[in-house]
Amino acid sequence: MKRTIALVGNPNSGKTSIFNELTGSTQYVGNWPGVTIEKKEGTLRKNKHIKLVDLPGVYSLSPYSPEEIVTRDYLVSKEVDLIVNIVDGTNLERNLYLTSQLMETGTPVIIALNMIDAVKRSGASIDSDKLSLLLGMPVIETSAVKGTGLENLVNTIADEHVTASKQFEYSPEVESALSGITALLPDAIAQHARRWHAIKLFERDQNVLIRMQLSDEVKNKIEHIIATTEASLDDTSEGIITNDRYFAISNIVSQCSIQAKIQGKLTSSDKIDKVVTNRWIAIPIFFVVMWGIYYIAIQGIGELTIGWMEWLFADFIGANIRLLLESAGTSAWLTNLVVEGLIGGVGSVLSFVPQMMILFFFLSLMEDSGYMARVAFIMDRVFRKFGLSGKSFIPMLIGTGCSVPAIMASRTIENLRDRRMTVMLVPFIPCGAKLPVFALLTASFFSGSAWVASSMYLIGIIMVIISGIVLKRTKAFAGESAPFVMELPSYHMPRIKQVAIHMWERSKMFIKKAGTIIALASVLIWIAQSIDWTFASADPSQSILASVGKILAPLFVPLGFGTWQATVAIITGLMAKETVVSTLQIVLGTNGADIIGLHDVFSPLSAYAFMIFILLAAPCIAAIGATYNEMKSKRWTFAAVLFQTSVAYIMALFVFQFGSLLIR
Ligand code: GDP
Ligand code: MG
Repeated sequence: MKRTIALVGNPNSGKTSIFNELTGSTQYVGNWPGVTIEKKEGTLRKNKHIKLVDLPGVYSLSPYSPEEIVTRDYLVSKEVDLIVNIVDGTNLERNLYLTSQLMETGTPVIIALNMIDAVKRSGASIDSDKLSLLLGMPVIETSAVKGTGLENLVNTIADEHVTASKQFEYSPEVESALSGITALLPDAIAQHARRWHAIKLFERDQNVLIRMQLSDEVKNKIEHIIATTEASLDDTSEGIITNDRYFAISNIVSQCSIQAKIQGKLTSSDKIDKVVTNRWIAIPIFFVVMWGIYYIAIQGIGELTIGWMEWLFADFIGANIRLLLESAGTSAWLTNLVVEGLIGGVGSVLSFVPQMMILFFFLSLMEDSGYMARVAFIMDRVFRKFGLSGKSFIPMLIGTGCSVPAIMASRTIENLRDRRMTVMLVPFIPCGAKLPVFALLTASFFSGSAWVASSMYLIGIIMVIISGIVLKRTKAFAGESAPFVMELPSYHMPRIKQVAIHMWERSKMFIKKAGTIIALASVLIWIAQSIDWTFASADPSQSILASVGKILAPLFVPLGFGTWQATVAIITGLMAKETVVSTLQIVLGTNGADIIGLHDVFSPLSAYAFMIFILLAAPCIAAIGATYNEMKSKRWTFAAVLFQTSVAYIMALFVFQFGSLLIR
């Protein structure tokens, strides 16, 4: 028979790391809270009959946030045979609060006392045997990163004799109230779940109350019991329960752990944080870091790899395939379609893959070391000043890779208005697919300056803030933002394996896109630019593509790029942002860094305005789809796209017109 094991724990306690180790999958591990939003399933590597479920991280089982609701509903309603509670050993007291609630679900619990390496390194120690005795459940010391204790954990999971743990004892007044309520529960509630339901009713948990459909008589009796206990202990029932739990936990913790932190002594994490989260220099440091990354990706490595990649696609693959096709007697038209359209278009995008990989490498490094969580923390300070929710910044950080998962990550924002706003503003953050556009244009107009490319990052963030301030003043978005509480995970040396997996997972998506959607788009664009409406072959400027581009091109004249070539690049960019590059390559018939055709359609100023437009305008179709999924409304999705495109238009207009004045 198949058994189901749920992994439950606080955010950032290492659930996904353990899940990956035990199942051999490569789910996303992130060094900040809120990375796992939906539950993920897998089977144990060593025993296919055991199903493992990775749940979103929660601090408690009181349903205050979407993650808590997903986790709790799953634990209570579905058949879970065993809960593996991942406890962050460096934060024992807070983590055990959740444990105390898990014990009450009536499902057997075992503890994986994780991060044991970090506990030992800090000089602290935890007596896990004693902890096991006091809690009445197996406690296994683990380190997901070092791989220690995992075998032991697997054996304990596979052991079917682990039974429901002993119950958590409350003060005598509460215990007598609980037995009073338990006696009133309907018979339909199974024996093992009765205590949990009694506690939830005592806490006046509305979700549970509504679901149980008790008669008014029973409800009144229960309310009477609660009110009596509240009067005698002089606190709300929820407060009483919480206090009791904390009291018992701190008692347990003091019995089995020795803290290392001597008063006043700073850990090295604290020392680094004093600098990188400093009120005055935190943001400058962040931009220096981003600039450095763009410098290496675009200016440093880029200049090298672009040459190689150009050689690979144009001189090697393109030229040889042309020879091959010609010698096979293929028509000139088809040969050109394959070489100029398909290979040229796909190649122009793939040329930027090494640079994208460098960008992703550094982003993963920043994330895994714990620095990204600090960025979210400092941005929260800025955002809050403007009345925005700091929680929006985590989706924005994810958006540096791709807007689609970023839009999905906004699901962790409880407040509907803030969530909608985040979904609308996330695409302003330059995603990986926009990098080729920036790299191409900075290479041809600004000698590859990292300043120009990284300024896109700055403009993206500034536009998020300005739009946020403006939108908050409208009726649809007004209102208090939910407070954002996030603990900073401690720094650790990034693990190369983890960073490599991230980098590869992100890059793979782009390579896949180049082979599918961009290949298809390149072929269609090549055809559309080589025939006219009578389907006769034609000069590009008389082609179907040109005639379509020319209809909309006048709109972009005030922005400095009102040519049909730029216009069709913008339109095809809706499929995927890399298509902007492949389209320009096909319609201008150029390649790589020294593009003469580009200089016919752009000036440095209009190229910059064009980059701003691509940065801010409607994202690709996949991101629009994700927006629709989160908004669940066509009107809101349309409003988002319209808003983004209008902001893009206004900003590009402003930059081009103002810039023209200055340059003259
Ligand atoms: P989740 O949010 O609970 O799913 O946690 P993750 O698995 O995403 O891990 C959060 C962070 O803690 C990541 O940076 C992991 O590399 C790190 N981590 C996980 N387990 C351990 C461990 O045993 N020791 C140490 N030092 N770090 C760990
Ligand atoms: Mg996770």
